[in-house]
Amino acid sequence: MISLGGGNPNPGTFPYRSMTFTLQTGEVIEVSEADMQKALQYSPTNGLPDFVAWLKSLQITEHKPPYENFELCVGNGSQDVLTKACETAFEMLIAEGDYLLIESPAYVGSLAFLKPLSCQFVEVATDAEGLNPDVLENVLATWPDASTRPKVLYTVPIGGNPTGTSTTLERKKRIYEIAKRYDIIILEDDPYYYLQFGATRTASYFSMDVDRRVLRFDSLSKILSAGVRIGWVTGPAPLIERIVLHGQTTNLHPSGVSQILVYSLLKRWDIGGFISHADSVARFYATKRDVFLESANRHLTGLAKWTPPDAGMFFWIELLRIADSSDLIKTKAMEKKVLLVPGFEFFPNPRKTPYVRASFSTATPQEIDEAVSRLAELVKEARAV
Ligand code: PMP
Repeated sequence: MISLGGGNPNPGTFPYRSMTFTLQTGEVIEVSEADMQKALQYSPTNGLPDFVAWLKSLQITEHKPPYENFELCVGNGSQDVLTKACETAFEMLIAEGDYLLIESPAYVGSLAFLKPLSCQFVEVATDAEGLNPDVLENVLATWPDASTRPKVLYTVPIGGNPTGTSTTLERKKRIYEIAKRYDIIILEDDPYYYLQFGATRTASYFSMDVDRRVLRFDSLSKILSAGVRIGWVTGPAPLIERIVLHGQTTNLHPSGVSQILVYSLLKRWDIGGFISHADSVARFYATKRDVFLESANRHLTGLAKWTPPDAGMFFWIELLRIADSSDLIKTKAMEKKVLLVPGFEFFPNPRKTPYVRASFSTATPQEIDEAVSRLAELVKEARAV
């Protein structure tokens, strides 16, 4: 066959030949010319085939899903496949004005793209043990009309953003049973899965998905690099195919160069090496959590309440005797030179809230202590007026 068909640019015109990168350890990894050429050309929408195969074997090793022929689509970060999945769900399952089950509080980046999709948010409360199955059950059992009952649940089950807390395995099992009974698709947005601080990782919804109702979103942003923009969605083939179709018409495929940069390292590490790297990142954040906790105990006792996070990078702090944190955090905290996120941002439906979100990811121990002490000052000053 002589192809005069495709619109591929001629690779002979590309100035790049190969790529070599150096790890923090000093180890040098070379991307072969053949791999580099594949990465430089247009490539499949769901990801470079070898990389997709590697990620599938990671999913099998880590989650042992109860069905075999799951599919996987790489995206430009998990945000990319998350938005595509939701747009697809809205196209297939949710009509304008329909209801969506969403944990509350919720990841602000999801609220940002869900709000314009004009659905109605049905908030499912979370607490120290994550999403509350009693609340979920109650919402569904008392729903007045089966024809309008929600069909999709969005949740961040581990190291919730903003709550820092995780849904326990026992609760996950109950939530999955409820989803089965009411025929609900679970969107499991799990970028903090590998950043669990306990000795073992709590099993995912994907790992218990006997009847193929879970779309699982993974991200490398918190483990390898946020700038490589690599995440992926895993789940039943018919749903993943729709997401791939979405990608075919929107961004064609995620960056081949990013994929090869990541895949060359993962191939070298293999699954064991990846997990042990992820574990070391989790230990890093656990230590930072301890630093933050110590400062919070020292400065905020009696002024605020919190549940120490068991994964991820956030503290969700309730300021006591403060009805609404928004002005305090948006203006007064800025004057005191401490940056926090006011809690109202994370609620699907507008409300006043005493909560603030603090991240312990990038600040040094000294900065954390100073910031927490400034927050304590703010609360005292607000109470005094
Ligand atoms: N979901 C949640 C809960 C997040 O916190 C984030 C990152 N802030 C994302 C998705 C998006 O991650 P990515 O960088 O993989 O797009």
